[in-house]
Amino acid sequence: MGVSVPCVKDRLDIIHDRIAQAARSAGRDPGDVRLVAVSKTHPQAAVVAALAAGQMCFGENRVQEAAQKFPPLRARYPQMRLHLIGGLQTNKVREALGVADQIETLDRPALLEALATQIARLGCRPEVLVQVNTGDEPQKSGVPRAQADDFIRLCQDRLGAMIRGVMCIPPHHDDSASHFAWLAECAFRHSLPVVSMGMSGDFETAIAQGATQVRIGTAIFGVR
Ligand SMILES: *Cc1c(COP(=O)(O)O)cnc(C)c1O
Repeated sequence: MGVSVPCVKDRLDIIHDRIAQAARSAGRDPGDVRLVAVSKTHPQAAVVAALAAGQMCFGENRVQEAAQKFPPLRARYPQMRLHLIGGLQTNKVREALGVADQIETLDRPALLEALATQIARLGCRPEVLVQVNTGDEPQKSGVPRAQADDFIRLCQDRLGAMIRGVMCIPPHHDDSASHFAWLAECAFRHSLPVVSMGMSGDFETAIAQGATQVRIGTAIFGVR
């Protein structure tokens, strides 16, 4: 848990090098891949260490935890961005919009309605990604692959340009490259600029397939 500042900085440097390498190998501009540092379960001190090293974009999977760690840091780091990357319950939407800049896990009509209602009420303009369950795994959140196109259109009708892209977490055992390729193609079909895919174990594969956003926890902050 107690990750030192130099350690986080070194690890971030290594990840940035690996991202740049993967992008160049794919003929892509390294600047087109955004790093989301996933700080879930790690203490606020770990986030502060990453901020001190220049990392401004973070991911958390629980609203409650994010609401405790992040708002106090906003005054000192106004450029900081927080992404919610975990499944979202409709009764947490209001709190989620208060703390997060990007919601990566819109995956069902009821959540779309709750988001639209609270966005109108709060007058905010969050970035929103549609999560696709590319492996159609019963226990995993995300809209099923076969319903993704219709659901994305519904989301775009309701939230317009706030719908920025798509996100997926491929099945553990599968070859993730085919899931990543499918998601990138899906984003392209809907003219969506953000493709959020790839974690500590497979982000280079994701970049080769077109990821514009990678979500990396363990390789930066250590094991949870
Ligand atoms: C935890 C988590 C990550 C980061 O996973 P690591 O393997 O630690 O890099 C990425 N995406 C989501 C949705 C997560 O929940």
